[in-house]
Amino acid sequence: MSTGIVYLNGEFLPAEKASVSVLDRGFVFGDGVYEVIPVYGGHLFRLDEHLRRLTDSLNSVKISNPLSGQQWQDVIMELIARNGGGDLSIYLQVTRGVAARDHAFPVGVSSTLFLMANPLIPLSDEVYKNGIAAVTAEDIRWKYCHIKSISLLGHVMLRQQALDQGAAEAILIRDGKVTEGAASNVFIVKNGELITPPKSDFLLPGITRDLTLELAASHNIPLKEVDFTPQELGDADEIWLTSSTKEILPVTALDRSPVGCGKPGILWQRMIALYQEYKQNVRKNILH
Ligand code: PMP
Repeated sequence: MSTGIVYLNGEFLPAEKASVSVLDRGFVFGDGVYEVIPVYGGHLFRLDEHLRRLTDSLNSVKISNPLSGQQWQDVIMELIARNGGGDLSIYLQVTRGVAARDHAFPVGVSSTLFLMANPLIPLSDEVYKNGIAAVTAEDIRWKYCHIKSISLLGHVMLRQQALDQGAAEAILIRDGKVTEGAASNVFIVKNGELITPPKSDFLLPGITRDLTLELAASHNIPLKEVDFTPQELGDADEIWLTSSTKEILPVTALDRSPVGCGKPGILWQRMIALYQEYKQNVRKNILH
């Protein structure tokens, strides 16, 4: 259970005291959107980018943004302070609010706004040493995967499918192309070049994905944003998965076969070092 202080509709209160109506459209329809923002040493990681993506998600589903940029920042900073600062992941969600159950958008209803702070766990020594296993799976999700919707049943089913096969993540295939992970973006390395699928409605525009590309570009690592096939995924020298809470994970086994030499690759080691350096600069408030 999540503990600590949460924010619900204008109030900070202990998680166990926070409650939402059973008629909330988030509960009844999964009608809402969310964000997850890392915090390092009490400092927010890429807040503007996360708030921009939140605005895009809200606009896509026609929920009006309940707060201004400054108000979001104030609420999040207060939540961080009330949870003791340090390294956290801030979860926030906006639902279409409480109304009698009817698919049509309700009129004159305020959205429900909820935020919580969870501990942010760094990559384990085991991941650094041995990486993680992934499996491929058919991308059974809807066609608006660029929206960070709280309706995550497809993602939940796919992630569990991976866990049931002894793997940590599912890498998804739609129409013969790799899209992303069930809760992450995907990269491959082939002959020293970093490759990731271009942004489209079939994948979430990950903030960690963007930073990984920025770090690669600024360190002269060759990169391209193009689609690739499951065959190219299987033939890759390295496979990485990126997300706010998992940073950059090296996939060392795919569908039970080793990826490259079966250990975290050379380019991953370089990239994760750059990523850790970036995090340190966020901690020092030099970068965001
Ligand atoms: N794709 C999906 C489906 C995800 O759920 C996530 C993380 N929630 C990502 C990609 C990675 O996005 P980010 O780097 O912004 O966490």
